[in-house]
Amino acid sequence: KERGRNRAELFEAAMSLAQQSHARIAQDLRYALPRSELTVHYQPVIHLPTGHVTSVEALLRWQRGGRSPIPPEVFVPVAEETGLIRPIGTWVLREACRRGRHWHDTLAKAGTLSVAVNVSGRQLTDPHFPDTVRQVLHDTGFPPASLVLEITESTLVTDADTTAAHIRALRDLGVRISIDDFGTGYSSLAYLRDLPADIVKIDQSFVLKGSSDASQSLIQAILQIGHALDLDVIAEGIETPLQAQRLHALGCPHGQGFYYSPPMAPQALEAYLTTQASSHPPPHTAVRGRR
Ligand code: C2E
Ligand code: MG
Ligand code: MG
Ligand code: MG
Repeated sequence: KERGRNRAELFEAAMSLAQQSHARIAQDLRYALPRSELTVHYQPVIHLPTGHVTSVEALLRWQRGGRSPIPPEVFVPVAEETGLIRPIGTWVLREACRRGRHWHDTLAKAGTLSVAVNVSGRQLTDPHFPDTVRQVLHDTGFPPASLVLEITESTLVTDADTTAAHIRALRDLGVRISIDDFGTGYSSLAYLRDLPADIVKIDQSFVLKGSSDASQSLIQAILQIGHALDLDVIAEGIETPLQAQRLHALGCPHGQGFYYSPPMAPQALEAYLTTQASSHPPPHTAVRGRR
């Protein structure tokens, strides 16, 4: 029911958006940062064999004063077109690293927690981007090894040379690179060959339709590629215990999705982290007698 309502809200937001001019969104977005309308929510990523939270993904939220929220799928592209994604993206990065450092300092269970931040093409090709990341890590004291930058294949299409150079510079800092929405682009395999990545995220379309033979085979193939290239694998969009069980049985090491938790405000995430060890046993232990 909760999810149904979220979907309805999303639909409403999309509809109301369609009635507004693109320019209005762009205009409002310019004031989103100074008016403190942006927040970052965090979704846990679970180690499927143990049920432990190993990382969280930072996801941007925009609450325009007094009006219906606009989903990132709608406003992030506008931010990219207008160039606002650079200041906004830097703010998200700083916010996530600051929060990550705070969790490392205050939560016993969060000692090695990683934080993943989504990065768009216009950020990645910004000549200052590697320096910005270095500066934010320095200012916040967040360990580079705990930061993951998520990039999508569409991000990688724009300026391959700059992108590759920046990814190398970032990895030299100790930051890890994750390929988001893997399997939905046109040249997934070429990117894995050419770019030094650390993690692949299986797109949720494969996971949500995971009961079909084709999806199962594709998930298995991605897991094999991950194994062959020494990449960690995270399955996105796990919504049911059955999906979690199947992925675990296939040997998928990590997963995230509404089954475990939706993205949450920082305080809710903190509460989740302090209680999660008991509330989410690994999927295979749910099968009676297997333990
Ligand atoms: P993404 O990076 O692939 O993030 C995963 C999306 O799936 C999130 O949507 C998350 O809320 C949603 N999700 C998580 N679990 C489930 C599930 O079990 N089922 C379903 N159906 N969905 C699930 P969200 O937060 O609306 O973000 C959408 C996209 O917007 C992100 O996709 C990312 O591409 C972009 N985005 C979000 N925050 C940022 C940001 O700070 N910077 C940039 N550049 N892009 C961002
Ligand atoms: Mg992502
Ligand atoms: Mg994704
Ligand atoms: Mg996505």
